[in-house]
Amino acid sequence: MLVFKGIQKTTLIDFPGKVACTLFLPKCNFRCPFCYNAQLVLEKDTGISITEKEVFDFLDERKGFLDGICITGGEPLMHPSTAEFCKKVKEKGLLVKVDSNGSFPKVLKRLVEESAVDYIAMDIKASRENYAKAAGVNVDLTKIDESIGIIRKSGIEYEFRMTAIPSLHSKDDIVAVGKWLNGSKRFFLQQFNPDVPLLDSSLQGSKTYTKGELLQFSAALKPFFEEVAVRGI
Ligand code: SF4
Repeated sequence: MLVFKGIQKTTLIDFPGKVACTLFLPKCNFRCPFCYNAQLVLEKDTGISITEKEVFDFLDERKGFLDGICITGGEPLMHPSTAEFCKKVKEKGLLVKVDSNGSFPKVLKRLVEESAVDYIAMDIKASRENYAKAAGVNVDLTKIDESIGIIRKSGIEYEFRMTAIPSLHSKDDIVAVGKWLNGSKRFFLQQFNPDVPLLDSSLQGSKTYTKGELLQFSAALKPFFEEVAVRGI
């Protein structure tokens, strides 16, 4: 059974086009220096523990108001029972969006095959060459490739997204990501926020790309996707 470490009771932006709540799970196998959720990743005691029963009671109270739920973390697919939980939420007639870093393709495949997910948002951390630096750990890129393939073939709504950070990503890296994902549906380039607590505090207050630069990168990515947009500017 899952134990959640936070809940945002209503969001109009996390699940595109839907009214949803967002549930936060602890743990992650990555250590992205720019991560905003260090407490969850490092499993620090926040004093918050929400059981599945409490979540289902909340969803019953909000019946008719919420279209669905978002599950994020941390890395939600690290938990063996996430797929089962998603199925139970679907049985209640709600939509499910899952955020993932793409390193658990088997769990992702199960979610898709068992119709337990309606929207997948997968983070792309950097170009293949710079993946380990941006993820803060060595990453098995065959798993990332596998997840990309599963998502693209799934027939469900999805997005790939990447946070652009001057000290980690050059324009060439960003274009290399476009070439890697060429032919995918939707890609969001996300502005980096250095003014919140980050996993690597040395990035705190560091330089960000300007709006103009992000829009230039977005234009350079357009040939590779059906839809490209910049978030957070
Ligand atoms: S940003 Fe990186 S470290 Fe943070 S939750 Fe996502 S994958 Fe894990």
